[in-house]
Amino acid sequence: MQRPERERAESAARQEAARLTALGVQAVALTWVDNAGITRVKAVPTARLAHAARWGVGMSPVFDVYLTDDSSVTSPHIGGPDGDLRLFPDLDRLTVLAAQRGWAWAPVDRFEQDGRPYAACQRRFARRMAARAAERGLRLRMGFETEWVVAGRAGPGSGGPPPGAGPAYGMARVVELSDYLRDVLDALTAQRVEVLQLHPEYTPGQFEVSVAPADPVGAADLAVLVRETVRAVSLAHGFDALFGPVVAPDTVGNGAHLHLSLLREERDLCRGGDGPCGMTAECAAFLAGVLRELPALLALGAPSPASHLRLRPSHWAGAYACWGPENREAALRFVPGPPEAEDQANAEVKCFDGAANPYLVTGAVIAAGLAGIAAGATLPPPVAGDPALGGGHERLPDSPAAALDRFTRSEVLREALGDPLFGAVAAVRRGEIERYEGATAEELPAATRGRY
Ligand code: GLU
Ligand code: MG
Repeated sequence: MQRPERERAESAARQEAARLTALGVQAVALTWVDNAGITRVKAVPTARLAHAARWGVGMSPVFDVYLTDDSSVTSPHIGGPDGDLRLFPDLDRLTVLAAQRGWAWAPVDRFEQDGRPYAACQRRFARRMAARAAERGLRLRMGFETEWVVAGRAGPGSGGPPPGAGPAYGMARVVELSDYLRDVLDALTAQRVEVLQLHPEYTPGQFEVSVAPADPVGAADLAVLVRETVRAVSLAHGFDALFGPVVAPDTVGNGAHLHLSLLREERDLCRGGDGPCGMTAECAAFLAGVLRELPALLALGAPSPASHLRLRPSHWAGAYACWGPENREAALRFVPGPPEAEDQANAEVKCFDGAANPYLVTGAVIAAGLAGIAAGATLPPPVAGDPALGGGHERLPDSPAAALDRFTRSEVLREALGDPLFGAVAAVRRGEIERYEGATAEELPAATRGRY
C-alpha cells in the first residue's frame, strides 16, 4: 500500500473510531481466514484503529500453513518462525457487532512489511479474480448459505443433545428455539445484513440462514460476519454453534453452498438467452468452466477430510459432477427462477461446506468460470433426478487425497492462485490428510465440528 493511501485510511479510521467510541465500542476484531478455513484474528482497542489503518497490525505468515488442530506444516514459500505481515482493516466493512457488546469487526487485507501486497492473501486473491472478470466486462453476484448445528454447551463438539430436536424442517424446531432464532435475526439485522431466509434443516439442531448476494469479496466477508454472529448469539444462549462439515457420523452435514450469477453491466446473463434453461451462451460457458474444474475446486470448497463424510450421494450435498435445473443432488444446481424477478437466475454450487475459506472459494470459482469462457466450454446435458440412481454420472473425488490430486493437477487453479498460495493450500491439505489418517467416522467429526 502506498503512503498517501495509508494516510487517507488513517484519517478515515480516526473518524470511524470517534463514531465507534460514541457507540460504546471499545475493541475492533480484525479477521482473515486461513487455508484450513479457520477465521484468525488480531484485535485492537478502538483508540488504536487509526494506527492500525496507517501502519497495519503485525501477524506471522505461518498461519497460512496452520491446520484445523492448530499444528502447522511447511510449504515451498511459507512456513517456519521467520517473517511478519501487516493486517490492514477494510474500513468500508467496519461493523458494530450486535451480539458482542463493545465490539466491532472488520476484515483485513494482508501486506508485506514494506507495503507490497502479500502474495498469499486470500482476500486479495478473491479481489484479483473479481477484477479479472471486470476486465472482460463481467461482474459476479455471490452469496453463501450458512448451515450450522446448534448444540448444548456440553453437547456435540463436546456431547449432549441438540436443544432443538423436532422434525426436519419442522415448525416445532422454530417454536423450541424461537427466542434464539429471533436473536440471530435481530443481530444480523442490526448489523445491516439483509437476511433472505432462516429455517430448520434436516439434522436435529440444524438451521440455515441465507443473506442477500453481494460482490465476491463482500459475499466472503458476509460469510465470516454471519458465522461469527451466529456463534456469538449461540454462546449468549448457552449453546455451541457447530459449522464443521459433519457433526456426527451418518448424519446430513453442514453445507456452505455458493449462489452466483454472472452479469454484464446490469444484465443477468443467467437469464434471457437461448442457451440451456434460458441462460446466455456466456453464462453457459462460465458454468461449464466451473463444472469442469469442480473435482479440483473440491480441495478448496470441501477441504477437510471430514468434508468427505458429508459429501455422500443422496444427501443433498451434491456428490456428483453434474448440473441440472433445481436438482438438489447435482453439484451444480441451476435456479432458473425466482418468479418475483423476471430478469434474474442463478447457479448454486452445492458441494462446498463450512470448512472452506470463502475468499478462496469465490476467487477460484471465478477463475474456473472465466477459463470456461476463454475455452468456449459448453455444458453437458442437464441431469434430472438423483444421479446416484444410475446413468453413469461422474462422482466427485470421494476422498481428500483424490481431491488433492485433482487440485495439484489443475493448471487453472495454480495459475490463478499463484505459487505461494497454491503451495500453501496443497501443503495444508496434505497435512490434514496425514493428521487425520486412520481417524474413525466418529473421531473425525468430533475433532473438527467445533473448530470452524
Ligand atoms: N445440509 C445439506 C448439505 O450438506 C444441504 C441441504 C440443503 O439443500 O439445503 O449441504
Ligand atoms: Mg440448506
